[in-house]
Amino acid sequence: MSLEPRTVIVASPRGFCAGVSYAVEIVDLVLQRYGAPVYVRHEIVHNRHVVENLRAKGAVFVDDLALVPPESLLIFSAHGVSPAVREEAKARQLRVIDATCPLVTKVHLQVLRHVREGNVVIMIGHRGHVEVEGTMGHAPERMHLVEKVEDVAKLRVDDPDRLAVVTQTTLSVDDTRDIIEALRARFPNIRTPPKDDICYATQNRQAAVKQIASDADLVIVVGSDNSSNSVRLVEVALEAGARAAYLVDDASIIDEQWLDGAGTVGVTSGASVPEELVAGVLARLAEFGYGSVEEVEAVEERLVFQLPPELRRAAR
Ligand code: SF4
Repeated sequence: MSLEPRTVIVASPRGFCAGVSYAVEIVDLVLQRYGAPVYVRHEIVHNRHVVENLRAKGAVFVDDLALVPPESLLIFSAHGVSPAVREEAKARQLRVIDATCPLVTKVHLQVLRHVREGNVVIMIGHRGHVEVEGTMGHAPERMHLVEKVEDVAKLRVDDPDRLAVVTQTTLSVDDTRDIIEALRARFPNIRTPPKDDICYATQNRQAAVKQIASDADLVIVVGSDNSSNSVRLVEVALEAGARAAYLVDDASIIDEQWLDGAGTVGVTSGASVPEELVAGVLARLAEFGYGSVEEVEAVEERLVFQLPPELRRAAR
């Protein structure tokens, strides 16, 4: 691609995925229909601006259900929850609305199927991430967590022929491929998904950032540092050839010195980032003389998830 000096290339797709749109819309509609306060277990999605915005409208984010008064409305975040959390909500007589992304639910169902078939499940993911806690909570006695290739050699299993793999949805496609290869090399009969469980949105955003990174001197990823898929975009940009890559919550974080000597700046955003934050970054870059903007589309996205039936009417 031949680019004018001081150009911005913006990756597409970027920003809100179908699961995040679904979860944020659910909280908005529940607030409209039932009024504040509405309790949400964990941050609905990992983006500070989205969370603050919903908090201002009356959402109350909690990690401990003991803080939710009995009979209140409780929304489960897009990352999903374990059966133990569902039980606790039931015991506290909370009225639950589930905003778990359907692609996370799909992984939960895979875990249950593998366990029913007599397998032990190896999950590839990041320890402590709320999605991993929710998924591993579906069979805590029959699951192991692997975070990196080196962990594969340390696994202790009773029957190497009764193993299956699932993955967190927001991992690096390339790193996960390496871990799955290491698992297959050690356990040739392990059941692996035909495609890993990394969701379409994570895969598409990584493909798009790869495409712009090779032409960019520096890449700015809009996203929060607790957002797994946003952090992965920074890593993928660096691996794909960007000289530097920065994660920014919004335009105010951008340091003019980052732009020293940069002819082309790449911009993208994580799956939980509203487009207005990207617009803010583009406006800031224009102030620094980067007014020429081109969009590079890697894949077209059309997926939309249907709202739960009780909220569809409110949406209409
Ligand atoms: Fe669902 Fe993927 Fe979005 Fe997570 S990143 S909410 S799994 S579509």
